[in-house]
Amino acid sequence: MQYDHILIRYGEIALKGKNQKKFLLKLQENIRHKLKDFPEVTVKRTQGRMFVILNGQDPHVIIEKCKNIFGIHSFSLAIKVNNDVDEIKHAALYALQNGENINTFKVTVKRINKDFSVRSQEMNQILGRHLLTNTTDYTVNVHQPDLEIKVEIRSEATYITSSVVRGLGGLPVGTSGKTLLLLSGGIDSPVAGYLAMKRGVEIEAIHFHSPPFTSERAKQKVLDLAEKLTSYGSKIKIHVVPFTKLQQKIFQETPNGYGMTVMRRMMLRVSEQVCKQEEILSLTTGENLGQVASQTMHSMNTINEVTNYPILRPLITMDKDEIIEISREIDTFDISIRPYEDCCTIFVPKAPKTKPKRDRVNYYEEKYNYQELIEEAIDGIEVIEVTDQKQAKDDIFQDLF
Ligand code: ATP
Ligand code: MG
Repeated sequence: MQYDHILIRYGEIALKGKNQKKFLLKLQENIRHKLKDFPEVTVKRTQGRMFVILNGQDPHVIIEKCKNIFGIHSFSLAIKVNNDVDEIKHAALYALQNGENINTFKVTVKRINKDFSVRSQEMNQILGRHLLTNTTDYTVNVHQPDLEIKVEIRSEATYITSSVVRGLGGLPVGTSGKTLLLLSGGIDSPVAGYLAMKRGVEIEAIHFHSPPFTSERAKQKVLDLAEKLTSYGSKIKIHVVPFTKLQQKIFQETPNGYGMTVMRRMMLRVSEQVCKQEEILSLTTGENLGQVASQTMHSMNTINEVTNYPILRPLITMDKDEIIEISREIDTFDISIRPYEDCCTIFVPKAPKTKPKRDRVNYYEEKYNYQELIEEAIDGIEVIEVTDQKQAKDDIFQDLF
């Protein structure tokens, strides 16, 4: 006997009304995509449940593969047996003996199939007795057991599940539309991208690159950050904008203190154009209230004037240490702290305005017609697609053997 299924639990809140079907199909598709290298494994939906059917594959390998999929709240190992008391006893004993660090247990029987002749309460007692008489090291604890063995008697079969492994929660990526993530090489924007994905949003990224002031390594850093994010979805398209000329002109034309405000507004203008081309409906940034001069309330008000696209700012109220904690969890922190300058660090004036005003910045912007430079930047965009490298490496490995 061995575990032959993994039960996938998803959040119930998102499962209301019309969205339910869309949500479940997407989750199933995302799981299938992650498991595409395991042709023997299938993903099935039945009556409010989702199961991965292992067909001999190691369940721990599969859980490891699926643990970055948003929309999964938890996994449980499961055994499917016939609606037969002896088979159920046997499977429950297997579940108990294969639990790790277990001293106490509890059995919970749910009889959904009322044609099954033994009632839940009686079945509970039969199984409890069976487990206690066939083992020596375990005791029952109904309030706080180390392991709860759940037995669900359904019409088609009985499922015995145990040991819950937590998933990431959130919603399946692809159920909440697409956003364009302004991805710098810093700590914040990759975390913002991750959190947008957590709510089911698919991402493309845009990066403003200013060679030769910013190096190839700074660009590579951004690609590496995006690659980390692919493990929560699939591939990510990155629009790398040649920003040098526009940026130089901005700082040449704009009185000190307002350069950064104009630069940010240009970033939004270019980003909005990319959204239009790609049919993307929102922008996402790593902005965080009060963190730096461009992220004061005044700054945001003035910068935001140039677009009426919604801007998602998942980090807006977080403390830096909370952001860093997430960046460590998602493994982007070490990449973000690589010491390569991005375009903001290089051009930013010593004392940027913390309270830039809309009328002043409009006045400065009118002094020069930036339209041609904006178009040139957009025309020069290089599109790079990054995929989950780990997955790609696994593919190569499989080809070799
Ligand atoms: P981050 O750690 O994400 O760089 P930050 O704290 O350094 O953020 P800023 O430099 O003020 O903050 O940038 C605010 C946001 O603007 C970033 O989170 C990012 O979304 C966007 N941004 C900044 N620079 C770039 C860039 N070169 N390319 C794309 N987006 C950028
Ligand atoms: Mg930055």
